[in-house]
Amino acid sequence: MTDGARLATRPGVAPREAATHCPYCALQCGMVLREARGRIEVLPREFPTNRGGLCQKGWTAAELLDHPERLTTPLLRDPASGELRPASWDAVLDRVAAGIRTVQGGHGRDAVAVFGGGGLTNEKAYALGKFARVALRTRHIDYNGRWCMSSAAAAGIRSLGVDRGLPFPLADLGRAETLLLVGANPAETMPPLMRHLADQRERGGRLIVIDPRVTATARQADLHLQPLPGTDLAVANALLHIALTEGFIDRDYVAARTDGFDAVRRTVAGCWPAEVERLSGVPVADLEATARALGTAGSAIILTARGAEQHAKGVDTVTAFINLALALGLPGRPGSGYGCLTGQGNGQGGREHGQKADQLPGYRRIDDPAAREHVARVWGVPADDLPGPGVPAYRLLDSLGTPDGPRALLVFGSNPVVSAPRAARIESRLRDLDLLVVADFLRSETAELADVVLPVAQWAEEDGTMTNLEGRVLRRRALREPPPGVRTDLAVLADLATRLAAPVEFPTDPRTVFAELRRASAGGPADYAGVTWERIDADTGVFWPCPDPAGPDSPRLFAGRFPTPDGRARFHPVTHRPAAEEVSADYPLHLTTGRVLAQYQSGTQTRRVGALRRAAPGAFVELHPDLAARLGVADGDEVRVVSRRGELRAPARVTPTIRPDTVFAPFHWAGAARANSVTNDAVDPVSGMPEFKICAVRVERVES
Ligand code: SF4
Repeated sequence: MTDGARLATRPGVAPREAATHCPYCALQCGMVLREARGRIEVLPREFPTNRGGLCQKGWTAAELLDHPERLTTPLLRDPASGELRPASWDAVLDRVAAGIRTVQGGHGRDAVAVFGGGGLTNEKAYALGKFARVALRTRHIDYNGRWCMSSAAAAGIRSLGVDRGLPFPLADLGRAETLLLVGANPAETMPPLMRHLADQRERGGRLIVIDPRVTATARQADLHLQPLPGTDLAVANALLHIALTEGFIDRDYVAARTDGFDAVRRTVAGCWPAEVERLSGVPVADLEATARALGTAGSAIILTARGAEQHAKGVDTVTAFINLALALGLPGRPGSGYGCLTGQGNGQGGREHGQKADQLPGYRRIDDPAAREHVARVWGVPADDLPGPGVPAYRLLDSLGTPDGPRALLVFGSNPVVSAPRAARIESRLRDLDLLVVADFLRSETAELADVVLPVAQWAEEDGTMTNLEGRVLRRRALREPPPGVRTDLAVLADLATRLAAPVEFPTDPRTVFAELRRASAGGPADYAGVTWERIDADTGVFWPCPDPAGPDSPRLFAGRFPTPDGRARFHPVTHRPAAEEVSADYPLHLTTGRVLAQYQSGTQTRRVGALRRAAPGAFVELHPDLAARLGVADGDEVRVVSRRGELRAPARVTPTIRPDTVFAPFHWAGAARANSVTNDAVDPVSGMPEFKICAVRVERVES
């Protein structure tokens, strides 16, 4: 069966069913939405990524469509009462346009900033980037994908020449003799993905997991390495050291397809496994077993995820694992390679078409004169009118309302009050703005601070495309129209562009926007010129790059060459360095943060779904029994986790699955339980990724 053509929406006819994809994570599980007797049902749909499975979040996704807290009226802050009050669309759009004009008139174009999200469709991400550069003419746009995949993206580009999360279809995982997961917990974050791992096990494959916690995924592994948070880079270098000494290097591949190996060989020669054991706590025997499982396998895949990436040295850590994969000759070999497990629903597409501070559509660089000429021609504006690069997300948010920073911010599809590191500081920056505008369908914690809240459509009310973790472009299909009073993000941008007298049109029809995106991306690294909605509908999506509508797409990359100027991959020597913040007498423990199965990102959506709230009602702090005993904490006691930046409070969960020197807290909750009140805002110097995964804390029992 083709992907969804049978159930696709028909123009002009209210559809009863739509074959679409889950609104949440990058697995983009196939589902059917069916409306019958006023109720909307979610049915799983066979698709190559989820193979008929859904997790609890997907099953319950439709509950938000008619949720009592759904925003259906624009809100404007009343200066007298300070409250958000209902207002007409004309009133709020006039207010936003006037506010933008005032701020830019007084402080320059860059005084208005835009903050996007990795859940926006390709069309919306593209339109948002165009709106910032053409309607606002500000250099300040970035997005919350900076929190998720930016380190793997930067490492992929500098080593392999491209950033595509998985450079092969997910089904290849099932064919790998050895699969190494680093800082990834798909059993909780993407449960249907485990079907591919089950295939791998049935074929006799080995699963090795590197994670400081004994996660649900680690429990299924043949071997679990449990390093101290922040030492993955050292572990990777030790694995390469062992691969060298035991003769596992694919010397023909290294000679024919790569550059720079000698410098890496010299660097890892000094990474003695015994020293790495002392640093990381991973026994030498486990390092050796891992290197041998990778080095002797006929096929092997190494995957990283947020656990390895969300560090101030995330780019170098990913680079170390790419070095290992290249030395073993994995990228481009069938059933083998390196990949990153993208997190947000459109984390991949959202970082390809212009939401990033330094980027134009098609993954072009905004400082590349040829790229500026090409995109400006498509947009119908002079290239010289396009602004230059902005700054990464944290720097942008941290500059808001300061003398040199933006004084107005437009937020689409993001909730930085919960998701930003050192969140109390960012919350205070948002309060300092002259104008904060939030487009959302629920009153997120960020919307609560806004001067204007714009109620926008949900996923089941709009058509578009998403690009999943495999680089496969998919169709999101509308089941129904948005409720009265609600507009699409594209319509909001078009309305504002008109009020701001933008020099070009902003289409509101997503198919028209996608056609423009195809032209803008043509010839770029993420080339969508040959991707059409019809072609996606006729098959199970289209993998980029796909430059020609009549030509093939690209499910597997790197078979013959890497997309670098000379076709060769690059090794980069990288060395371990400590976390940005080390433990001390006052802050003697490491905090690491992450997700739980029944919640998603900042929780704005999933905390409002009854079944998910019951499954995961609140935050918690995981402590090892030895640590709990030392602190006099019993399971369920309220504890306070204190860092140099703030504190969070939540009940203790005493469990042997965490290291005694480390505590864990999930980041989905706001208020006193907000994990990001505590996290460190140190960022990777290359990617701008904050160090969410490690900071120094102390834990105290809260006396009742
Ligand atoms: S795994 Fe991800 S895409 Fe699939 S149902 Fe769950 S949240 Fe949705």
